[in-house]
Amino acid sequence: MVPLGWGAEGCQQCWRRGVPLAAEAAPAFSREVVERRLEAALDVVTAAGAVEPAALERFAAAWDAGETGPSSLVPRRGRIGSPAEPFAPDVVAFLAVASLRPDFEAYFDRVREHLAPADWRLGICPFCGAPPGWGDVLEDGRRRLACHLCGGAWVFSRVACPFCGDESTGNLRRLEAGERDEGYWVSACTACHGYLKEIDRRVRWNGRSALVEDWGSPHLDLVAVQGGLWRPMPTLLGLMPQL
Ligand SMILES: [Zn+2]
Ligand SMILES: [Zn+2]
Repeated sequence: MVPLGWGAEGCQQCWRRGVPLAAEAAPAFSREVVERRLEAALDVVTAAGAVEPAALERFAAAWDAGETGPSSLVPRRGRIGSPAEPFAPDVVAFLAVASLRPDFEAYFDRVREHLAPADWRLGICPFCGAPPGWGDVLEDGRRRLACHLCGGAWVFSRVACPFCGDESTGNLRRLEAGERDEGYWVSACTACHGYLKEIDRRVRWNGRSALVEDWGSPHLDLVAVQGGLWRPMPTLLGLMPQL
């Protein structure tokens, strides 16, 4: 994957208009490379019983016919995958992360440094456009959202909901995870009922990467979902139909 070579000025012009870079400079994915990763990811979701054999066949036929390809897994502003995919959104998101993330990471490698907090205040990834999958409170107290699809991260208001943009005080509720999970919580918006799991890196200084933390804490998703909350970046829970 050839990295995007835009300079700071080009990136900032895009961000100031509220447009993620991928919307104006889409990466050219190699069908063969993505297909190899996709095969491994499809084995995982099939073993988990998360896809119907008929849906798998439809997807494989569409892929082989060239009707669907890597770009159908790329996020459309704030959501992942196209509605035409035969799989549930959780499955599409998992497939997208597993098959596209290495390419997206390499593609945005040189432009990450151009992002300053003032350039981007939206609740979607400034690089690829996906919804955030995790929140980190940093050493200096700022809140940083993480994108699972491209490995991007951006500073975001601590009181605003990243999903509906509501900044009214009191709309963001914090559901603490319990004593064993000190430093972890679920941020829930009472306006749109969206939620995001977060970690305070000052308390959990040995915490792992955002993706590992997210996929390693399905018990918090269960609490949130049972409380009537939802998240736009689907969770691994969705791959477990028995839940
Ligand atoms: Zn991203
Ligand atoms: Zn909201």
